[in-house]
Amino acid sequence: MADEIKAAAAESEASAGNFIDEIIKDELERGVNKTVHTRFPPEPNGYLHIGHTKALVIDFGTARRYGGICNLRMDDTNPAKEDVEFVDAIKEDIHWLGFDWEDRFYYGSDYFEKTYELAEHMIENGDAYVCELTPDQFREYRGDLTHPAVSPYRDRPIEESLDLFHRMRAGEFPEGKYTLRAKIDLASGNFNMRDPVLYRIRYIEHHRQGTKWCVFPMYDLAHPIQDALEGITYSLCSLEYEEHRPLYNWVIDRVMPYINSETRPRQIEFARLNITNTVLSKRKLRYLVENGIVDGWDDPRMPTLCGLRRRGYTPESVLDFISRIGVSKANSMVDIGLLEHCVREDLNQKARRRIAVINPIKVIVDNYPEGKTEYFDVANNPNDPDAGTRKVPFTRELWIDADDFAEVPPPKYFRLKPDGEVRLMGSYIIRCGEIVKNDDGSVKEIHVTADIGTGTGNPTDRKIKGTIHWLSADYAAEADAILYDRLFTKDDMNDLPEDKDYIDYLNPESAVKAEKIKIEPSLSDAEPGEKFQFVRVGYFAKDTKNPGTFNRVVTLKDSFPKK
Ligand code: ATP
Ligand code: MG
Repeated sequence: MADEIKAAAAESEASAGNFIDEIIKDELERGVNKTVHTRFPPEPNGYLHIGHTKALVIDFGTARRYGGICNLRMDDTNPAKEDVEFVDAIKEDIHWLGFDWEDRFYYGSDYFEKTYELAEHMIENGDAYVCELTPDQFREYRGDLTHPAVSPYRDRPIEESLDLFHRMRAGEFPEGKYTLRAKIDLASGNFNMRDPVLYRIRYIEHHRQGTKWCVFPMYDLAHPIQDALEGITYSLCSLEYEEHRPLYNWVIDRVMPYINSETRPRQIEFARLNITNTVLSKRKLRYLVENGIVDGWDDPRMPTLCGLRRRGYTPESVLDFISRIGVSKANSMVDIGLLEHCVREDLNQKARRRIAVINPIKVIVDNYPEGKTEYFDVANNPNDPDAGTRKVPFTRELWIDADDFAEVPPPKYFRLKPDGEVRLMGSYIIRCGEIVKNDDGSVKEIHVTADIGTGTGNPTDRKIKGTIHWLSADYAAEADAILYDRLFTKDDMNDLPEDKDYIDYLNPESAVKAEKIKIEPSLSDAEPGEKFQFVRVGYFAKDTKNPGTFNRVVTLKDSFPKK
């Protein structure tokens, strides 16, 4: 792993001093725990997205900060929709961010046997029973805030429940016929405590267990058991599990006597990450992929880590973002401009400068000899003196960007205009002469004269206000660029009008293709994934799938308000 990634990871963990740290410090001081042992438990039903990154930075980062350890656990207890493809991708993405689980890689499904045994103990102790309400009845009997739930089977004799539970496992009953329920409190104000379902029957193949099982534990049973079995001390999760914490603790209380462990896991919740103009739900992201709305999980517009990576985001920029948003208890919406700001800052330091002309028009320097080439020395990165310089060829025929020429210029237009002068970046000043048109009235070529005498210096008799970028038409190569933008047009994608769906807010301009842009010849040899600042245009990364394409990571203009 590159040292700089490690360093950035460490730095982002230094969002220390958050409320989770306060709790942990206190417990360590009081001797409640001797170690910090966390876990990151993704469900392998999709790719990790930037929201998961917050969780994994908290899980791995908190452990590292206290010299502890963090397990990577595939939360694959729910048999539907899981896939090895996702397991491998999740590992790759975590490594990309600079975190490592070493030999502590687990599958929740590996605990099925143990979980089943612990459920048997619960039945034996009168803490669980087999229920045979249909799903409809179950809903009907749930009660409400003023009425307790009704559960006609909760006093079923222990032996009978145990027998039914065994026969559920043996495959004697159809799906939905029986469930195992915890016996807690039918009148609880917390509906999760109203005798929640612990096991259900599903005839579905599990991606690792095959058809061995037809009863599956619910998350609320499986997760605390897995935490307890692995000796987790702090089970850090997002806020939607807060209401489940009493149940988590209830399960822990029931199973600890049967588990050989000195540590009792404690669940602590933190706020989920929400970002403007973005959806962060695997279900919704999966829909975009499966319906061809985006070009796969790694489409550069996706908020997945593989999408961000392909777009050109660096791990350092992602970690910087996570560290800046901090760890809070209250849910909030983060401006996507901050994420863009972070990658812009990082690439500003690291990316070499290159010239690309997105929308080329031809310029002919009438007073420059045909066949002559001269080279100007141009810095690779003005922010990084070690990056050196390169030689950029100048010839009689050049490309400039159509956006840098206006035949009818607005006031204060300092780029090229009829009779006007402009500086060619790092080279001569040119004066606009004849403008030759195509039959359709568009500009075919612009004739100019160069101020050869002044060279790259400043004239004494006048001030040249504009500078534009350019390429030699003799030497330029070609490529395609995709000008990526935000995937959704609405800020708060969690708050949609009733009659609208998130799909209704897709940005039609989120991937605008610019074909046959002109580029510096050296860019043809760029490595896939290599990142550049196209001067005056934006940051771009060479695509890792289509070698002839550059992806716009972000524009140069920072929309994020300065503090
Ligand atoms: P999704 O809603 O995208 O399907 P999930 O919570 O079902 O997400 P998991 O794979 O179960 O996805 O999540 C693994 C971990 O990542 C969990 O601890 C979860 O709390 C956390 N997590 C998921 N999304 C976010 C988010 N937006 N912000 C912070 N943590 C998140
Ligand atoms: Mg989940």
